[in-house]
Order: sequence, then structure tokens, then C-alpha cells
Amino acid sequence: MTDGVNTATFETRLRDRLDELESRLKGIEAELDAPMSADVEERATEREGDEVMEDLGKAGLAEIKMIQAALKRIDDGSYGICVNCGEPISPERLDVLPHAPRCRYCA
Ligand SMILES: [Zn+2]
Repeated sequence: MTDGVNTATFETRLRDRLDELESRLKGIEAELDAPMSADVEERATEREGDEVMEDLGKAGLAEIKMIQAALKRIDDGSYGICVNCGEPISPERLDVLPHAPRCRYCA
């Protein structure tokens, strides 16, 4: 066995989070696809809302990518190892940020 990190626990947490993000992104897409109002002023506020939604979408996509990368590292056995310096990432850090690719010194 590898030392320390219980990847099964983190894998469950990562997959749960991935599901949550994906369903949230679907909601955002549906919202963005919704037809604009005919009213010009209303349209302006809707556009601002869309920008906020788009930012949320981008942040969500970035997190999804990091989670997928973390799941891949679980698969190939490199999970919990800093991709930068090769040192183990502290369990405390992984507990807060299960998809963290780097240790706190390299982050
Ligand atoms: Zn490092």
C-alpha cells in the first residue's frame, strides 16, 4: 500500500463535487439560452446577469478540469503528490482542497 492518503475517500468527494458542478453548469447554460426580453432596459440587466453567470460558468469549468485531473492522478497513483516538486501534499491541505495539484509551498 502507498503511505498515508486514503484516496477512496477523496475520490468519492471529488466525484460528488463533479456531479454538483456539472448540474449547476447545466442550469447556467439553460439560463443563458433563455430568450432575451423585448424591453431594452430589461435586456441590459439580463445581459449583466448573463455576464455573472458566464463568470460562474468559467470558474465551474476550471474546477471541473482540476477535479478531472485529480481523478486521473488517483487512477495512475500519483494523487496527493505535488505535481511541481514531487513531495507529498499534506492531508490537511487535501482535506480543504481535494483537487489540489500542488503542495502549499508550490501553490
Ligand atoms: Zn510542491
